[in-house]
Amino acid sequence: MQYDVTIIGSGPGGYVAAIRCAQLGLKTALVEKYDTLGGTCLNVGCIPSKALLDSSEHYHNAAHTFGTHGIELKDLKVNLKQMIGRKSEVVKQTCDGINYLMKKNKIDVHHGLGSFVDKNTVKITAGDGKTTEIKTGKAIIATGSKPSTLPGIEIDKKRVITSTEALNLTEVPKELVIIGGGVIGLELGSVYARLGTKVKVIEYMDSLIPTMDKALGKELQRVLKKTLGFEFFFKHKVKSAVAKGKAAVIKADDSKGNEVEFKADYCLVSVGRRPYTDGLGLENIGVKTDNRGRIEVNEHLQTSAPNIYAIGDVIKGAMLAHKAEEEGVFVAESMAGQKPHINYLLIPGVVYTWPEVAAVGYTEEQLKEAGRAYKTGSFPFKASGRARASMDTDGFVKVLADKQTDEILGVHMIGPRAADMIAEAVVAMEYRASAEDIARMSHAHPTFTESMKEACLAATENRAVHI
Ligand SMILES: Cc1cc2nc3c(=O)[nH]c(=O)nc-3n(C[C@H](O)[C@H](O)[C@H](O)COP(=O)(O)OP(=O)(O)OC[C@H]3O[C@@H](n4cnc5c(N)ncnc54)[C@H](O)[C@@H]3O)c2cc1C
Repeated sequence: MQYDVTIIGSGPGGYVAAIRCAQLGLKTALVEKYDTLGGTCLNVGCIPSKALLDSSEHYHNAAHTFGTHGIELKDLKVNLKQMIGRKSEVVKQTCDGINYLMKKNKIDVHHGLGSFVDKNTVKITAGDGKTTEIKTGKAIIATGSKPSTLPGIEIDKKRVITSTEALNLTEVPKELVIIGGGVIGLELGSVYARLGTKVKVIEYMDSLIPTMDKALGKELQRVLKKTLGFEFFFKHKVKSAVAKGKAAVIKADDSKGNEVEFKADYCLVSVGRRPYTDGLGLENIGVKTDNRGRIEVNEHLQTSAPNIYAIGDVIKGAMLAHKAEEEGVFVAESMAGQKPHINYLLIPGVVYTWPEVAAVGYTEEQLKEAGRAYKTGSFPFKASGRARASMDTDGFVKVLADKQTDEILGVHMIGPRAADMIAEAVVAMEYRASAEDIARMSHAHPTFTESMKEACLAATENRAVHI
């Protein structure tokens, strides 16, 4: 079989690249080692975690805020089996949707482990060991990532678990220790805390979501403690985590070097993800990985073999589904002779806790470090009528703008529906809007987005109206 392009890996990078290649008239093959398409994001990442976040949020609201809304419930209880079952159904529908899209775009899907025999030959080894070889003009590596771990941590997938197992628990833990205060740990921690689990987070750094603007981590820490009873242990270095009977035992050194021990019925290890290239046969095509295991690519996302490209979690940059998708489109269009463009500064980052956290552009810390003259404007949700109506008054929107030109340089928000609201900031920054441009645009009342307008008014000449 001869293809113009073969894509290895069917996550958001791979399947989107396949669709764009097919749209551009290239004969396209997609190789996936698992039975279902969609990769980490659809099967064990973005979609199932959001499904459980939504279910647990409904429960938490029913238990804690319905009464204030004047809604009385009796005998409220969690049916975890049903909750996980609904999540699995959402995953199934979404994966089936990818099958449909592959058929619609006449993309040949091959199930099995893909590995390079040479630069133009991909061997596919099916689950039963049967192998086939396909010939290809070009290839895209989109093999994604897997959960990573630390020395001393023994993941047994029963008591010491990764995000994959946390999406399929059969009981609500009484206590859950989370190693790592980043996005995945806080999202899955929120799911179980809302269902009644006591959650403790052990973090090596001195703040949550440490790569985002510091103000966001601080506010998120305050709210998670207040609303869900999270406990945080910062500047703690985990030395070991092991399963002992029906418990997980975690040992760490605190900031003073004293050993502390934690015991819980589960320990979720969420210390990041590592690029995945196992079994890919990179050695047969001379493609190198860097010291963090990421495939090295140039600005066109080409590997050292010019007909082979790499995208998504397996290369440098934010490990995000929408980043992988943009790169998939970028590579497909480059192959077709177009001149696409990705503005990496404008890839938004989101944490789907409640309140949600979302950001785009430079953080205040980055602007300070670069010595750039900037101004800030903030607006708290407690001053928003819409937020008061829905009782979602925690958080704020913070806008950073160039001191001279007023161009928006970064937007950082924590609050209701921040994940959706950040799109306005992305559009504004792509078109290089000034804070005053946004401040002068009509925002429907009452909406959460008015807080973006107010923060822009505050950044323009400190002229926010409602505070
Ligand atoms: C719990 C969790 C929640 C997340 N939530 C979000 C979120 O809300 N928003 C967001 O943007 N990102 C989120 N992410 C991250 C997101 O899932 C990844 O950034 C995204 O899936 C990366 O896409 P990808 O296409 O690069 O790789 P992947 O989605 O990892 O897909 C790679 C695919 O390649 C296949 N593969 C690997 N090697 C081979 C081989 N040799 N042959 C054949 N097939 C192979 C794998 O089986 C897999 O299907 C989350 C991740 C996790 C774990």
